Amino acid sequence: MQLQNLSDNKATFVRYNLATDSNAISTPSQALQEYWIASNGIFLRSTRDLIDACIQLNNLALPGLAQIQPYLKFNFPLIPERLVAAMLELAQKVGDQEILFYLAFRGKEWELVIPDQIATATSVKPAEPVDPVYHQALIEVHSHHRMQARFSATDNEEESGKFRIFAVLGEIFTSPAISVRLGIYNYFQLIPANKVFELPPDLNDANRLVL
Ligand SMILES: [Zn+2]
Repeated sequence: MQLQNLSDNKATFVRYNLATDSNAISTPSQALQEYWIASNGIFLRSTRDLIDACIQLNNLALPGLAQIQPYLKFNFPLIPERLVAAMLELAQKVGDQEILFYLAFRGKEWELVIPDQIATATSVKPAEPVDPVYHQALIEVHSHHRMQARFSATDNEEESGKFRIFAVLGEIFTSPAISVRLGIYNYFQLIPANKVFELPPDLNDANRLVL
């Protein structure tokens, strides 16, 4: 009986599934992480609030199973252009220094938060990592100022273990660009910026990948 309880608890965190037919994945379970073994590889599916995502972890060719296609359903309104433009402008104002933003969905709209932070030319960290606003934020954006809009090894380290959307701004004084990715715990998937943000005309999407 005790063993049974243990396995029930575990099932709420991680569940392994075989894609026996193409509709198998349609309804999310209560599990935080659903791993799916499909004919075309292994996938991770997870949901949080109004985000439902399925990312491909590897490519395989397994006989006898159905295919799964990766997807991202971001069922919030897009982050409005005025907030994206505000982040870019604030990043430009601080010059050759990084800056960190949180975006939280409160009531019916997105709110831009600039947490207290410790910023240098090559790093930015919240001064209060246990800030309640941090936990409400679904999206974290930081700036690499004149460097490229590309996630660094440090970003990978700091952003793993979470389920949220991350974005990095780069080349903000010359040719502003944004790179956006979905983080599902220890995995990241680059996504087109327009899945999440309304981009001002002077901000380019650094990724042309389609999820
Ligand atoms: Zn960074």
